[in-house]
Amino acid sequence: MSDPETLSIVIPVFNEQDVLEEMLRRTLAVANALPEETEIILVDDGSVDRSMGIIGDAAEKRPGEVVGVILNRNYGQHAAVMAGFARARGEWVVTLDADLQNPPEEIPKIVEQLREGYDVVGSIRVPREDSFFRRMASRIVNRTVRKTTGIGMRDYGCMLRGYRRRIITAMLACQERSTFIPVLANSFARRVTEVEVRHEARPTGKSRYGFLKLVNLQFDLLTSITNAPLRLLMIFGTVICGLGGGLGVLLFVLRLIKGAEWSAGGVFTLFAALFMLVGLQFIGMGLLGEYIGRIYTDVRGRPRYYVEETVGHGIEGED
Ligand code: UDP
Ligand code: MG
Repeated sequence: MSDPETLSIVIPVFNEQDVLEEMLRRTLAVANALPEETEIILVDDGSVDRSMGIIGDAAEKRPGEVVGVILNRNYGQHAAVMAGFARARGEWVVTLDADLQNPPEEIPKIVEQLREGYDVVGSIRVPREDSFFRRMASRIVNRTVRKTTGIGMRDYGCMLRGYRRRIITAMLACQERSTFIPVLANSFARRVTEVEVRHEARPTGKSRYGFLKLVNLQFDLLTSITNAPLRLLMIFGTVICGLGGGLGVLLFVLRLIKGAEWSAGGVFTLFAALFMLVGLQFIGMGLLGEYIGRIYTDVRGRPRYYVEETVGHGIEGED
């Protein structure tokens, strides 16, 4: 059960021994200044440095205030955050990175919006010093998410975000293994907003996302948003097949007009046939993809719909 007066702050930690203590100190200071009861949930995502020890000490020193959730190995940031959600008790839940790139001092801004009644509060990184391509990518992601969920946000990359309890409940009900939390949350939200937060360079160490992990994350993002790439196969196939057919007809007509010598012994006709076959193959793959897409949608077991609330009452006792 959630506690209406409590705020949970969920922080995934993966080899962050250098910043962890400072981060905790600053987050606790922020938490103490807030009127809500606050619990800080540190999820150790299989760290191999001293992070686990630091989390253990902090949890022992401040029972109830700091909670450590220790995972046996590295599952990835989003899985770690989900583990934190499962343990969170608060009516409001805020997520934060451990590396101090988003200062904990920005948490009250998020909480303020949650108090206003928003389901999901995102954050926009200012200044955002990303390259043109990163910004383009963000724009594409944003547009696709808006198309599928009807909800648009400017920045999905920043994990300093806040959620209302019912959104957390809905996310925990999803069975899928690869999640991209900001997008998943938006698919259950009605009212969302974004606030501008400071964004700083990582104080120590490199990003915990290596190249492969980053690629994997992009695919998590893509597949959590849409099955459209599968449909693209079908469209691509249809276009090629159509062009092949068109070429065939054109060759046939030219052959009739210009005579047999012109057709170079049927080489071009072969191309036309080839294009049509290749196109058919793509259509076949797209068709398979449609089935696989549906299997995927079913397997991940997201709730078919999410009832926010029911208004009006039925017969007494039948609620
Ligand atoms: N993190 C995690 N598991 C991972 C990778 C990262 O729990 O496999 C945590 C990490 O400790 C940090 C947050 O996720 O608190 C964001 O990671 P990072 O700062 O390396 O990512 P970036 O800022 O480059 O997006
Ligand atoms: Mg970071």
